[in-house]
Amino acid sequence: MSDFDDLLAANREYADKFDDGGFDGVAHAGVAIVTCMDSRIEPLAMLGLGLGDAKIFRNPGGRVTPQAMEALVLGVHLLNVKRILIVPHTRCAVASNTDAELRAKLAESAGKDASWLHLPITDDQVRALAEDVAKVRSHPFVPEDVKVGGFIYDVDTGLLNQKI
Ligand SMILES: [Zn+2]
Repeated sequence: MSDFDDLLAANREYADKFDDGGFDGVAHAGVAIVTCMDSRIEPLAMLGLGLGDAKIFRNPGGRVTPQAMEALVLGVHLLNVKRILIVPHTRCAVASNTDAELRAKLAESAGKDASWLHLPITDDQVRALAEDVAKVRSHPFVPEDVKVGGFIYDVDTGLLNQKI
């Protein structure tokens, strides 16, 4: 009866085998990841991590937005985060289209003006990454002993390349 029946059926199978109830919500590996919403990225698997290990914040582009910063501050102070990885990726839509190109695609898809939408476009992904890492490192609620790294994830090889 629902548009979500297939997913709910899969969830019931998942819950049948689920035995992690009562588990706490801290980051057991001490890791937080900010990365893109891209469906080619498996944030835990690509780092050899699993359930309970990391805090993950995703948005288009894997940018350190104010909301991402909120998540990192909570993670660092309340949820055991000691290392932060900022992870944009190759062939990302918000780094490989211009602002005008992406607006045109959205306008065509929606059939309406997209000029007023906020889009997290960057024309220099590595510079944006450096700015984002600096933003986290200099935040007054991120202690100096928290390690912050900037990486580009290659969606064609699965490799992380550290840039900062
Ligand atoms: Zn992306």
